[in-house]
This record gives sequence, structure tokens and C-alpha cells, in this order.
Amino acid sequence: MVKVCVIEGDGIGKEVVPEAVKILNELGDFEIIEGEAGLECLKKYGNALPEETIEKAKEADVILFGAITSPKPGEVKNYKSPIITLRKLFDLYANVRPINNFGIGRLIGKIADYEFLNIKNIDIVIIRENTEDLYVGREKLNDEMAIAERVITKKGSERIIGFAFEYAVKNNRKKVSCIHKANVLRVTDGLFLEVFNNIKKHYNIEADDYLVDSTAMNLIKNPEKFDVIVTTNMFGDILSDEASALIGGLGLSPSANIGDSKALFEPVHGSAPDIAGKKIANPMASILSVAMLFDYIGEKEKGDLIREAVKHCLINKKVTPDLGGNLKTEDVGNEILNYIRSKL
Ligand code: ATP
Ligand code: MG
Repeated sequence: MVKVCVIEGDGIGKEVVPEAVKILNELGDFEIIEGEAGLECLKKYGNALPEETIEKAKEADVILFGAITSPKPGEVKNYKSPIITLRKLFDLYANVRPINNFGIGRLIGKIADYEFLNIKNIDIVIIRENTEDLYVGREKLNDEMAIAERVITKKGSERIIGFAFEYAVKNNRKKVSCIHKANVLRVTDGLFLEVFNNIKKHYNIEADDYLVDSTAMNLIKNPEKFDVIVTTNMFGDILSDEASALIGGLGLSPSANIGDSKALFEPVHGSAPDIAGKKIANPMASILSVAMLFDYIGEKEKGDLIREAVKHCLINKKVTPDLGGNLKTEDVGNEILNYIRSKL
């Protein structure tokens, strides 16, 4: 039986994850292990990621994560973000973010708007390297200047680019695009692009590469030009937030953090303190993260059924206020659940 460590976290994490767990339990037999983490946990135990939670995560095959609130700068000494700690601990090197509008059009802003916008099919998967680049935290400051080191390794590049091609083959995607700035960052992105050009020879799939600046423009102008994107950590961070705006934003953006022996699934959004407790958070991002969990454990047909149920709700405007509807978090969860039940 697959063991799932469920960490709801703070704020709307506590509201959306229970809806996702409902769907998980409906479609499979899982052993659920609940773990605590986040700001509330820090206040309770003096630790945002207690050893007990780490042990539970180690024991589990996969982790379903909600969201956590970070303490204000200076509020807590030596604060380490639980999600970053988990990514490091399990070496979750591939951050996978699908950007999909389910063929409904551009889900910008409220549902009422998107009928009037230029309808385009957006179905992009951004695969972002999760462990290297400027985010390794090697920053120095002296009187005259501040310096950040950008680390790109051959091994790190090979595993993320290899992951992207394997993902493309497994999911019948048409193309893999490498996004870089190798014309300026000749050494670091030069290495990344060289590895890409070597690996692409081993696959019978279209492969191309673009500069990150032109990609930032083309994601808005011609999103249909992209299929699978593979890129370094910071470019992936920025481009995936940009791309999620194409499909109506955070309430619809799931993600997976995948390593060689463990994977963590989470909505892209944070704990949204501004709407926490109001029961209006959109649970779709968390539920779509469960769809990715099913894909990961080899039950893609169940993942597809969840995506179909979300699409059904979008088309019928069974949505929360962020998408222009008037349903509560729980109502959307139940709509999705009922649709799934009607198909089983
Ligand atoms: P954190 O510090 O935990 O990241 P945040 O204030 O940055 O919290 P996010 O969760 O990143 O909040 O969300 C940014 C905005 O998007 C918030 O104003 C929130 O209301 C909205 N939002 C995010 N997720 C959802 C959701 N699932 N449903 C509805 N609105 C959401
Ligand atoms: Mg945030």
C-alpha cells in the first residue's frame, strides 16, 4: 500500500488539503500519515519542522503538502523553511509545473472574462531544476560589493534534462525546449545547453532552445509554441509564475517536486492569510496536485479523471470567488468528488 505523508501546514493549506485527501481516498487505498509543519507548529513546539514530521516523511512513499506561512523577517532566529528543508533532505531535484487551461481558453481573472478573450489552448509543462543555480545561497558582501555565485553542475544538468526528456516520452509530448541565457552566461548556461544538446541526440523527439528573455515575451504572445520546457532554477521560478498567470493564477496551479526515491506534491500557492478561515480558498490546485501524485505512482488514468472533473467544474462555473463563482472550498471539493463518483 502506498504511504502518503499529509502535511496541511498553515492558513488555507488546512482548508484545501482535506478536499484533496477526499479525492485521494476515493480513488485509491492509501495509508495516510499526518504530519505537522509550519508557523502554527513553530508556535506550538518551537520548531517549524519537528523531527517527528521528518521521520513520517521518510517513512512515506510520497508527501502531500499544503502551504506554510513564513515568520516575518527577524521574528525567528535561524528560521529554515520546512519546504526547502524537505526538498534538500530528499534531493527533490525536479520541480514540475503543468500550465494547462483544459482547452477552455485563457483563464485570466474571473470566469466571466475568459469567454471574451482570445481563446488559445495552453498546455505547457515547466520542468525546473530545483537544487542549483543562484539559489545555492552562496552570497557574499564586502564594503564594495555583493556577490552571488551561480552553480551549474554537469551532473545536475544531466539529471534534470534527462528527466525532462523521459517525462516527454512517457507523456506523449511533442517537444522539449531548453531555456537559457547562454549568449551572456557563456560558462554556466553554456554547460547547461551543451548537456541539453548531447542528451537530445538520444531521443526521437523534437528539441529546441530559446533565450530566457524572448521566452518571457513569447509565453504571453505565443504560448502554444511551447510544450515541455526545461530550465535552470531561477529562470524556472520566474517563468513558471509568469505562465501560471495565463491560466487564471494560483488557485489552478499544481506542482510536483520529484527526486529519485521520493516525491512531494503541493499547490503552487502559499497559505494566503488574507482569505484563510473564510472557507473560500480554491481547492483545485491542491486537487490537481493529487492528480500528479496518481501520475507519479503509475495510475495516470486516475490523474486524468481528476483533471476531467476539474474541467467539468470550470466549464459549469462550479468555482470559488477567485474564479468569479460563489461556491465554498468544500462545495468545489464535493462537486469534483461527485463527478468522479459518477464516472466510476
Ligand atoms: P505566503 O506568505 O504563505 O506565500 P501569500 O500572502 O504570499 O502567503 P499566496 O498564497 O502566495 O499568499 O497567495 C497570493 C494571493 O493569491 C493571496 O492574496 C490569495 O488570496 C490568493 N490565493 C492564493 N491561493 C489561492 C487559492 N487557492 N484560492 C483563492 N485565492 C488564492
Ligand atoms: Mg506567496
